[in-house]
Amino acid sequence: MTVDTIEKLLVEELNDLRSAETQITKTLPKLIEAATAPDLKMAFEHHLKETEGQIGRLEQAFELLGVKAKSKTCDGMKGILSEGSDMLHLTKTGEVRDAALISAAQRVEHYEMAAYGSVRSYAKQLNQGEVARLMQETLDEEKAADKKLTELSTKINTSAKAA
Ligand code: FE
Ligand code: ZN
Ligand code: FE
Repeated sequence: MTVDTIEKLLVEELNDLRSAETQITKTLPKLIEAATAPDLKMAFEHHLKETEGQIGRLEQAFELLGVKAKSKTCDGMKGILSEGSDMLHLTKTGEVRDAALISAAQRVEHYEMAAYGSVRSYAKQLNQGEVARLMQETLDEEKAADKKLTELSTKINTSAKAA
């Protein structure tokens, strides 16, 4: 099937995001386990709960649009998570690993920010106000998660340098 309308593009990208978020819920527990700094662990735990809610919003979006979610793999997220896992194997427990985890997690957040900004805009253009609102809500959470990670990195990278 050719994606030849903004509506089809919206659905295609929502399916991609559903895969991305599902992959993230499976990976965050590993990050929680691997992190040393308690506030970093807490940030990942908080974002895991948020991510479950984000999957809920995607399901709501499919319902509002009257389409069924389809099985699809987000290869972008798969690659980002695979790089994160490489860094986990290259480091050992401590500040340097924490710094690497933050860097990996921020790659995830930026991919998501790009994707949610796009679907939010398509929904707006299609007068799907409720879908747009839901996607904006998730976009705001991803931005806040990214900002939190930047704050944590300032502290953690300083201890990583001293390590
Ligand atoms: Fe997310
Ligand atoms: Zn993707
Ligand atoms: Fe996220």
